[in-house]
Amino acid sequence: MNIQPSRMSKDYVRAAHAVILLAGAHLADGETVRNVLCPFCGGGQNQEKAFALTREGYVFKYCCHRASCGEKGRVNKNGSFIDETRQADSSQSLVAKPRILRDPLMAIPLVRIQYLINKYGFTSQDLYKAGISWEPQTKRYVVPVRSPYGVHRGYMLRSPFTIPKWDAYQEDIADPWCAWYAPTMQDFVNEAKRPVVIVEDQLSAIKVARQFVCCSLLGTDLNYQKSAELLEIGGPWIMALDADAYNKSIHQMHQWRFYFGDDIQVVKLVRDLKFEPDEAIRHIVLGAV
Ligand SMILES: [Zn+2]
Repeated sequence: MNIQPSRMSKDYVRAAHAVILLAGAHLADGETVRNVLCPFCGGGQNQEKAFALTREGYVFKYCCHRASCGEKGRVNKNGSFIDETRQADSSQSLVAKPRILRDPLMAIPLVRIQYLINKYGFTSQDLYKAGISWEPQTKRYVVPVRSPYGVHRGYMLRSPFTIPKWDAYQEDIADPWCAWYAPTMQDFVNEAKRPVVIVEDQLSAIKVARQFVCCSLLGTDLNYQKSAELLEIGGPWIMALDADAYNKSIHQMHQWRFYFGDDIQVVKLVRDLKFEPDEAIRHIVLGAV
């Protein structure tokens, strides 16, 4: 099969997968649609509708029956995939496994509270509001991950002592794995209080949420699920990931621009927002709108 260079690129595949997930969301479990336009080849010159898509739970199986295309594979709602055409797998397994934290939790030791206050300029009220606790066996901060409506999604555990710093406990892999914060619950529906700020880690989000609605991506990936939730909450959106993720931010902004339109901006940070005082954050965010 003759594959054009552009069709080998990861972005090309990701964009097609995003279309498949959007289209597949309308299918019932077990349902198949045939004779639709292929998001990989567009059906060629004659716009031949030869693409088939089947939903099996959270997995969407696809196949293009055009001989010159032949794209085939599976993509999970969480963005993981198996690409049979290129024999490529995403780094995650196709169905990510849920992970539930069963270790007992306790209040953060005073010395650790003091550390967070001194290092990042948090107040004890910030920490209380974010629900941060402590896992004594492995000596890690436990930071809840919640939906925009305050529903529990799991935890991120952060070690103050070892690398890697963060460890994810996602309880339901169907949830978007991002964590939401706001000055008040009311602000999620108050458009006058916009923009929505998109940050990398939860500590930055806790700081930003003193003033703005904020979503922590729990990393740097803006995938289909997170994009759908950001769109649901509404914009405009300011992406303010850490400085070393600036190029990736620009790239992802272009990748998802079709959905976000011109209402998403990327700001270039000098240092992580968790280290910035409130006035600086306000200046950075409002300067970008
Ligand atoms: Zn095709």
